[in-house]
Amino acid sequence: MPILKAEGKSFQTRTQVLVVGAGACGTIAALAAKEHGAEVLILERDAKPTGSTSLSGGQIPAAGTKLQRAAGLLDDTPEILAKDIIDKAHGECDHEIAWLVARESAKTVDWLYERHKLPLSCILDFQYPGHSRKHMHASPSRFGAELLAALLAAVEKEDIPLATSARATDLYVDPDGRVRGVRVTRPDGKTEDIGCDALILACCGYGGDKALIAKYIPEMVDAHYHGHVGNTGDAVKWGEALGASIKDMGSFQGHGAVATPHNTHIGWPAITEGGYQVNKHGKRFSNENEGYSEQALKVARQPDHIAWLIFDERGHKVSMQMHSHVVAEEAGALKVCNTPQEIAKVIGCDVATLTQTMKEVEEVAAGKKKDPFGRDFTTKPALKAPYRVVKIMGALFHTQGGLEINKEMRVLKKDGKPFPNLFAGGGAARGLSGPSDWGYLSGSGLMTATNMGRLAGIAAAKLVRK
Ligand SMILES: Cc1cc2nc3c(=O)[nH]c(=O)nc-3n(C[C@H](O)[C@H](O)[C@H](O)COP(=O)(O)OP(=O)(O)OC[C@H]3O[C@@H](n4cnc5c(N)ncnc54)[C@H](O)[C@@H]3O)c2cc1C
Repeated sequence: MPILKAEGKSFQTRTQVLVVGAGACGTIAALAAKEHGAEVLILERDAKPTGSTSLSGGQIPAAGTKLQRAAGLLDDTPEILAKDIIDKAHGECDHEIAWLVARESAKTVDWLYERHKLPLSCILDFQYPGHSRKHMHASPSRFGAELLAALLAAVEKEDIPLATSARATDLYVDPDGRVRGVRVTRPDGKTEDIGCDALILACCGYGGDKALIAKYIPEMVDAHYHGHVGNTGDAVKWGEALGASIKDMGSFQGHGAVATPHNTHIGWPAITEGGYQVNKHGKRFSNENEGYSEQALKVARQPDHIAWLIFDERGHKVSMQMHSHVVAEEAGALKVCNTPQEIAKVIGCDVATLTQTMKEVEEVAAGKKKDPFGRDFTTKPALKAPYRVVKIMGALFHTQGGLEINKEMRVLKKDGKPFPNLFAGGGAARGLSGPSDWGYLSGSGLMTATNMGRLAGIAAAKLVRK
């Protein structure tokens, strides 16, 4: 992604705060910047914004929100959420940013709900692995397209201009790193230059760029990419060219239960309610309940890179609140079976092996045996017929590495000093998951997109109004 010299350049079109990307991070940054008195413009490469936000489950963790209190969830605090984030990352994320995001999370969700009328409510009937409280907030369908539609409606209501089919391709930058403007390339190849006083990079990560995945996350290069294909790492490419500090590039959010060949993810309550996975030989291979992100590689390492998920009506019922699970059901991905024999037939494995696997899980759930993979099945009732069985693969949802930022969401140079007017958030910035796949706390993607977006918008507005 080229960096052009700003010297001598004048811009016919200008705005104070320019935002690249119209996902959760970009729309929220724009709403916050406008509210804090700045003139804002959003650039979006697609004709209609459909970034990873719109593909997501739309679930945002936050601690101490008004919605939680109204739902009777009185014991959640930013301290608990910060600890959950840091513990999941084995302590290997930026603690200062983790604490900041946890502390801001209630303000962000309250503001989105009250001021911008996002139709959010608390998820009460299940908890993701690593969440020690019910942190999740989502819109009714638990589908990111609904969340993004509400954010875009708020952007429209606030009269914030959004230029679509407008890919930011080049940055005009002074020798000291001050961004003076952006070159926009239209689908027909025509270009326009737009000047700005501050730039917010909200164009997410590099999941859509195979070369970057091969370089930084080679173990996932052959895996199915389930995120937005237009997220081609433009923020990190500019960052590399500008000498920005870029961290945790091997980190990613995976998902260990994407139905194949249907390409839609199964609701994780299928696992948390007692479901488990077997490989094509009918044998378990992991503690499935450590987290859906790290499960992706565990599945990808099985014969033929696939596995089978077995769960029951209880997990199915909770999962049916999630749009992607409903899609799996409607696509006929979930086979209903009543006996181990029927399940073995669907899988095509040896009946005796599968029967033995199922018997062992029952014994572990009854507390008669310890699970060889270290999973605790005793907190939920054992599965009972009718069972649901689905063929699954491990997928890459989105990348977690990116531009290092400070508490004002200012992008940092390699020497730790901030660029004068460059901000980043969401998937464009370094996440909170540490260096690999196991550090991703469920919901961390939207938690960083929403909170970093709001903070970047406020800080950028403050800068340009000085
Ligand atoms: C299937 C799936 C389910 C998920 N479920 C959840 C969940 O329930 N909870 C959660 O917290 N996280 C979830 N995530 C992760 C979450 O979706 C992302 O972390 C989050 O949406 C990132 O938001 P963003 O605004 O940074 O990026 P995006 O929403 O991807 O927005 C980036 C935008 O930038 C645009 N863009 C890119 N490059 C340019 C350019 N050069 N010029 C102009 N525009 C550009 C893109 O077109 C896109 O619209 C999920 C992800 C996937 C794929």
